[in-house]
Amino acid sequence: MEKLASLRDQMVDTQLIARGISDPGVLAAFRKVPRHEFVPPGLQDSAYDDSALPIGEDQTISQPYMVAIMTELLKLKGSEKVLEVGTGSGYQAAILAELCRKLYTIERIGPLSKRAEGILKKLNYHNVEYIIGDGTEGFSPSAPYDSIIVTAGCPQIPPPLIDQLAEGGSLVIPVGERFYQTLTVVTKEKGKIKIEPSIGCVFVPLVGKYGWRD
Ligand code: SAM
Repeated sequence: MEKLASLRDQMVDTQLIARGISDPGVLAAFRKVPRHEFVPPGLQDSAYDDSALPIGEDQTISQPYMVAIMTELLKLKGSEKVLEVGTGSGYQAAILAELCRKLYTIERIGPLSKRAEGILKKLNYHNVEYIIGDGTEGFSPSAPYDSIIVTAGCPQIPPPLIDQLAEGGSLVIPVGERFYQTLTVVTKEKGKIKIEPSIGCVFVPLVGKYGWRD
């Protein structure tokens, strides 16, 4: 356990701070959340490596730096209602649950959602709701959201996610080709939509009505 905590601190210092992540809340969340709980049992020794890892169902837990930069771009203050599309392992959800008031996380693959829910509950996160479905359509019953984060790559920004973004809110989403995308930040101010590119990235495809076909 001590070894894993020390690897976690090293991850924060060498992969996040060294690359410019500076939000104290984001860094504290990464020092706290036990990433090794979210990877398959055989991969726990690699949990703090500088890479994405397989989690089954042909899906991945994203590289720590990518989780960190996407979280930092949301500029969470603690009072927000957040929608995450792509629950996957649940690791990004745990980081968000540390930093916002209420998280809705949606995943299209039922067993991944159930597994993530079990881990987050075991770790005592009680401000998260788990939805199984097509996140390209958002989750209208609890809209609008102060922040929306999409953790799979999309050919376009799904219109329902823009509709479900609150006034003053931010959406962070990888947009582009099937195997290469640009992290994109969408903001809504006085009804006007601003779209700004950030860094390049590689995510598994967002599959659904407004995403890729399977
Ligand atoms: N946030 C995750 C984590 O921390 O492990 C990263 C997950 S992985 C990079 C992307 C996830 O998006 C996969 O689990 C995939 O099944 C899911 N996904 C793809 N298309 C989706 C959709 N339309 N709605 C919801 N989830 C989707």
